[in-house]
Order: sequence, then structure tokens, then C-alpha cells
Amino acid sequence: MVLEQIARPRDGRTAVHDARVLDAMRAVPRHLFVPEEARNEAYDDHPIPIGHGQTISQPYIVAVMTEQLALPPRARTLEIGTGSGYQTAVLARLAAEVFSIERVPRLAEEADRRLGEQGFRNVRIRVGDGFEGWSEHAPYDGILLTAAPPEIPPRLVDQLRPGGRLVAPVGADHGVQPITLVTKRADGAVEETRVMGARFVPMVPGVDREG
Ligand code: SAH
Repeated sequence: MVLEQIARPRDGRTAVHDARVLDAMRAVPRHLFVPEEARNEAYDDHPIPIGHGQTISQPYIVAVMTEQLALPPRARTLEIGTGSGYQTAVLARLAAEVFSIERVPRLAEEADRRLGEQGFRNVRIRVGDGFEGWSEHAPYDGILLTAAPPEIPPRLVDQLRPGGRLVAPVGADHGVQPITLVTKRADGAVEETRVMGARFVPMVPGVDREG
């Protein structure tokens, strides 16, 4: 999967070169993050439904977004939208600490159990609203959103360390949400660049009390 879809994609997509990211993608067993009936397609390059109307992100997009974060050594990271925990696991192989917020309680519980069973000890997951971030552990070197907000949530930018990077699909349009890189300069000024188009589930405010 990693070689064909990510490091040397044949269809003209931009390749991911960062060796640490490719190693992390090789190391995380994606089949353990998809529902049992979907295990045979776990390494195909597309999103897969994980229940509650949500999907596990496409591996190529996980790799692209993780590369854009360009995490420094010993990084502290925040993820919004734990979902299956797959992207969380990739981050956990690269960062010292990963904090992850999920609005659907059942998904948060399942991801927590899964990551625990796989021996990840540097991840903390909580049920909450990602628009608020997790200020107790801020500032973060990297913040990654795996659901698309209509615009970059200002509270998350506040929780980014100067020199840090935030990567998010942005846009209320359900067709395409361009993946956007936000960099916070040492003087606190913020710059935005577009990385590529992608499709994500929308980021929904508040916690899902039913889930
Ligand atoms: N990274 C996940 C992708 C899951 S899809 C994976 O690889 O499996 C996006 C997730 O974002 C969903 O689980 C959805 O419930 C969650 N989400 C949506 N809005 C949110 C919000 N405001 N706060 C936290 N999580 C949110």
C-alpha cells in the first residue's frame, strides 16, 4: 500500500517523500481500524465507513496531511476527529504525545480501546467539541483536523505554538474541502496555504450525546 499509493503513486498525484511518515504508515496495521466485514479492503486507497455516518480516512490523504504537519522531534500534537483512531496511531508513531478529541462517545471509546490493545501509551482521547480544542495541554507543535470546519477555528490557532503548523480540510461546501496548512510564525503572525483538494466529513459543533 505505502509504495504503490503513497510513495510512488502512478496517477500523477504528488508523492509523499518524508521517510518518517512512510515508516509510520508501514507500521500501523490499518486492518485493525476498520470494521471486521471491511478487512479485505483495509489496504485499498479509499475511505471506509466506520459507523455513526463516519469514515476512516483514505491512506494517501492521511500520509499527505501528516507530512504537511512536519512534526519536530518530541512533538506534542492535537488531533480533532479521532474516528477509528487510525490517523491517531500514525501521529503517535511520530510524536511524543498525541491528544485527540472526538464528538461521538462510542467512537472515542472504541478508538481508545483499540490503541490501548496495540500498545500505544502516548495517546489521550477525550469526548468533546473540537472547535474548543484542548487548552490544558496547549501549546501544540502540530494540530490536525480530520473533519472539515467551515473556516479555521480561531481557538485552535490560539493553541498552536509559535513555529507550529495546523493542517485542516476547510470549507462548508460538501464537494471539495481544500486541505489548508496554517503556519504560525515565531512573531505570532499566521499564514495560510492550500495543499490540495480533498473530501471530508463536515466538522459538527457540540458533542453527540446519542452516539
Ligand atoms: N481520523 C479519522 C477520521 C474520522 S472522520 C480516522 O482515520 O478514522 C472525522 C471524525 O471527526 C468523525 O469521527 C466525527 O465524529 C469527528 N468530528 C466531527 N466534528 C467534530 C467536532 N466538532 N469535534 C470532534 N470531532 C468531530
